[in-house]
Amino acid sequence: MTKRQAKPASERQSARRATSERAIERVPRGGKRKGKGGVQREADFVVIGAGSGGVAAARRAAAHGARVVLIERDAIGGTCVNRGCVPKKMLSYGGTLAAILSGCLSHTGGHEDWSDAIVRVNAEMARLHVAYTHRLQDAGVELLHGEATVTAPDQVQVGAETIHARRILVATGARPQTLPVPGGELAGTSDDVFTWQSLPASVVVIGGGYIAVELASILSRYGVKVEVLVRESRLLERFDHEIAAALAEALAAKGVRLHFHAEVTLLNQANGAIDVCYRQDGNGNGNGGGEGGKDRIHTVRAQAALAAIGREPQWEGLGLAALGVEKAEKGGIRVDRSFRSRVRSIHAIGDAIDGLHLTPVAAAQGRWLADRLFGRRGDRADFDTVPTAVFCDPAIGSVGLTEHQAIEAAGKAERIESVVRRFVSLENRFAGSEQASMVKLVVNARSGRVLGAHMMDNAAPEIIQALAVALRLGVKLSHLRTTVQLHPTVAEELFG
Ligand code: FAD
Repeated sequence: MTKRQAKPASERQSARRATSERAIERVPRGGKRKGKGGVQREADFVVIGAGSGGVAAARRAAAHGARVVLIERDAIGGTCVNRGCVPKKMLSYGGTLAAILSGCLSHTGGHEDWSDAIVRVNAEMARLHVAYTHRLQDAGVELLHGEATVTAPDQVQVGAETIHARRILVATGARPQTLPVPGGELAGTSDDVFTWQSLPASVVVIGGGYIAVELASILSRYGVKVEVLVRESRLLERFDHEIAAALAEALAAKGVRLHFHAEVTLLNQANGAIDVCYRQDGNGNGNGGGEGGKDRIHTVRAQAALAAIGREPQWEGLGLAALGVEKAEKGGIRVDRSFRSRVRSIHAIGDAIDGLHLTPVAAAQGRWLADRLFGRRGDRADFDTVPTAVFCDPAIGSVGLTEHQAIEAAGKAERIESVVRRFVSLENRFAGSEQASMVKLVVNARSGRVLGAHMMDNAAPEIIQALAVALRLGVKLSHLRTTVQLHPTVAEELFG
C-alpha cells in the first residue's frame, strides 16, 4: 500500500494497536494460499456488505492504495439498488406519467402497466449490477460472494475462506421489521413489492412512515385500491406536521384511504384474501373511529397486506457481540464519531448503525471513513443538515428543522416565524387538477435565518436538494426575497 506512510502518527499507532490485539497470520502480499483451514488471504480492509455504504467505502479505500476485499451475500448495490430507492423511484415515475397522461390525454387512456414497469425496473437493476461490478474491478477491489461472519477482531470468514485484515467495516444495512401480532407473517414487506410480477386488486399498508406512504402512493397510481393503517395521529411523524397534513389530504383526494390511531391486532387468511383487524381509539379521526371515546375493533379485507413499520439494523448474526461490539439505543452498532465500534479494528456505517438511514448518508460515511483510515483526513459531510424526500404523489422534500423542532430548540413559539404558501402548479393545471402544492419556510424571527424548508410538489425533491446548500451557508429570508426568481417554476414560490 503506497499511502500507508502518509498516515498521521495517531493512525499508525491505532493501526499497531489494532493488529497487536491479535497476531495476524502473514501470507504473501496480495496473495492467497490454501492451508489446513481452507483459503487464507490478507487485506488491509475487509468490507462486509456491498450496499451504498460498503461500495463507497471500498472504492475510496482502494483508491488510496489499500488492499480491499468486499463481501456480499446477495445482489451488489444493496437495498438502494435492489429493494429501495432505485426501483421505487422508477415505479413512481411510471405511476406519475400515467396520472399526467390520463389527466391531459384522457382520450388515449394513458394507463401505466405494472408488469411492463417491473421489466424496465429489472433492466435498470441489471445495468447497475454490471456498472457497480466494473467500477469496483477498475478500482482494484476484490469482490467475494458469500455470507460473512467476523471470527476475530481482525478476521472474517466467508465459506472456506479466511481473510485477515487490519480493519473491518460492517456495512450490512437493515431489514424490514416483522409485524409482532398473530398472523403478522401474512403481511409482506417493501422487499416483496419489487418482486411482484402482477398486482393484487387491493392492498392494506400498515405503517405511516415514508416507506408506507411511498408504497401506498405508488400502488394506488397503478390502480390498486389502497387502505393505510397508521398507528399515530398523522403520517410522517418526523416531517413537518403541516406538510404531512397537506399530504394526507392530497392522498385521500387521490383515493388512498387513511385510518389514523389504528393499532393492528391480528391478521387472518380469508378465502384467498387477508383480513386485517385493528383497534381504533374512540378519538380516532380516521374513517370510522369509535364513538363516545370507546375503542372499536375494525376489520379491513384486501388481497394483500404490507407491513412498513420500520427497519432494524442487521448485524446480530455476524458474531460481533461475542467480540465485544455493543448495541446502541435503536439497535444499531454503537460507534463513536469516527464510526469505530468498541472493538478498535471494527467499524460500522450506514443502516447498520443508529442515525439517519439514507443512501447518501451511508455513502458519505463510507468515503469519509476510508479517507481517514487510508488516505488524508477528508472533509466531513454535514450530517446535521440532510435533505430528504418522500417520493409519493405529490412528493415531499424537506431540509432543516420542522416548525415543531425549531420552536422546541428556540424555547418560545414567538421566536420562530413560518411562511406558508399554497398554489396550484402549471403542471397540475395542465393536467386539469386543482391539487394544491405547498411550500413552508421555518425562520428565526429575530435574525431572519431560514432554519428549515419543506415542500409538497412533485418538483420538491429536486428543489430542496439545491436549497440544502443555501441553508448550510446560513441563508436568510431577505436573501431569498432579493434573489430574482426563475419564472415560471415551482421553485420561485420559495422566493416570493
Ligand atoms: P444496504 O444497502 O442495505 O447494504 C447492506 C448489504 O449488506 C446488503 O446488500 C446485504 O445483502 C449485505 N449483507 C448483510 N449481511 C451480510 C453478511 N453477513 N455477509 C455478506 N453480506 C451481507 N434512501 C434514500 O436516500 N432515498 C430513498 O429514496 C430511499 N428509499 C428507500 C426505499 C425503501 C423501500 C427502502 C427499504 C429504503 C430506502 N432508502 C432510501 C434507504 C436506503 O436504501 C438505505 O439507507 C441504504 O441502502 C443503506 O445503505 P447500507 O450500505 O447501509 O446498507
